[in-house]
Amino acid sequence: MNLTSPHITFMSFSTLGLSSPLLEAIHSLGFAAPTPIQLGAIGPALQGRDVLGCAHTGSGKTLAFALPLLQSLKHTANKSAQALVLVPTRELATQVGDTMRALAQHLPHQPRVSVVFGGVSINPQMMGLRGGTDVLVATPGRLLDLVAHNAIKLSGVQMLVLDEADRLLDLGFAEELNQVLALLPAKRQSLFFSATFAPAVQALANTLLHDPVRVDVRPDAAPPSEIRQRAIAVDAPKRTQLLRDLIQQNAWSRVLVFVATKFAAEIVADKLRKAGLTAEPFHGELSQGKRTQVLADFKAERLTVVVATDVAARGLDIAGLPVVVNFDLPRSASDYTHRVGRTGRAGEPGLAASFISATTLAHWRLIAKRQRLALELESIPGFEAMETAPPASSAPDAPGNGGIKGLRPSKKDKLRALAASVAIQNP
Ligand code: ADP
Ligand code: MG
Repeated sequence: MNLTSPHITFMSFSTLGLSSPLLEAIHSLGFAAPTPIQLGAIGPALQGRDVLGCAHTGSGKTLAFALPLLQSLKHTANKSAQALVLVPTRELATQVGDTMRALAQHLPHQPRVSVVFGGVSINPQMMGLRGGTDVLVATPGRLLDLVAHNAIKLSGVQMLVLDEADRLLDLGFAEELNQVLALLPAKRQSLFFSATFAPAVQALANTLLHDPVRVDVRPDAAPPSEIRQRAIAVDAPKRTQLLRDLIQQNAWSRVLVFVATKFAAEIVADKLRKAGLTAEPFHGELSQGKRTQVLADFKAERLTVVVATDVAARGLDIAGLPVVVNFDLPRSASDYTHRVGRTGRAGEPGLAASFISATTLAHWRLIAKRQRLALELESIPGFEAMETAPPASSAPDAPGNGGIKGLRPSKKDKLRALAASVAIQNP
């Protein structure tokens, strides 16, 4: 894997000012050269500057903050965490924690790295934090719970990282984020990472960062070009059948399928299983154990298909995932970027196929326009779209085409909008 472009291949990690135990760890993990975001962010962060980093998914943002963070740690027995990394989802928390530990393996003093997130019992996390911690990777809600239980102190936090800041705001974490920020010392270093720069993200960055170094390595707002994108016309009730055919005809080894609702995830996974494929749903209502299991099985190639809601759209790094399918279209162009970014990670080729029916065509055109995509609407023999006008109601096989932006806003939409406006007006 090499993410660097030709003119910077001579740059190595050793020119960035990293300590030798960290360089050793990078070497043992097999990373030869820094990615552009790493190249832009690590130096300034090591010098104590605030950083505002923006890069598409799969571009190596984790190391861009994890390395300077680890180098900034002091050897103390302090109760308070020294560094806090806020992430939007449990899976991302685990992933970041694992990367931190792997990078810290050669440090003379092993930092205590703790990972906390909601959806699981709080007690083991409280026990784990008893002796204090150095690096805390957390989702905002559970972090506030732990603070309320006096299980963690944040008064000594010298470095704050926001990973996937746009997602944090999207998920309605704005208010919790502000509560966390109020608990941190004013004098600290902040590193702020996002794959997109929505206005709410920019507003939060403006209030959070002091004279930041801005590192924006996005070629444009579109997904990386290694990803081939396809738009396929199909009537909604025929989507499952088409998906099965595509998987079989193209011998897709692993496919991440996005749907709009938990219900649809269950139904589609069930139908695929009945058709003889190994398929599992993945959504926020599953237990943490189940989610971890599904992800592990998928990564280990024991599963062919995972049918997921947008809970899986951001941050997850599934090495070598060849295909993403938008069974239901995403709500927005930026969600499209995130979903599509699950494939083509670290410069590998990938394919993203979107299913489009008469009902969703207008919405697709909006997404394509925002993405500056000029894709021809393909028609697959045997699946020529027949519907010409939007059906009066959803077909039985079409659970949850719902949640299309621009139509009636759901309660969740309103909450998100509120959260975003709170972040802008009242940071
Ligand atoms: P992002 O947070 O930007 O979505 P990640 O930090 O999850 O991206 O990294 C994506 C993938 O790239 C991971 O599999 C990671 O191990 C790999 N990677 C990170 N840095 C490098 C590098 N310098 N060289 C090669 N691969 C890298
Ligand atoms: Mg990331």
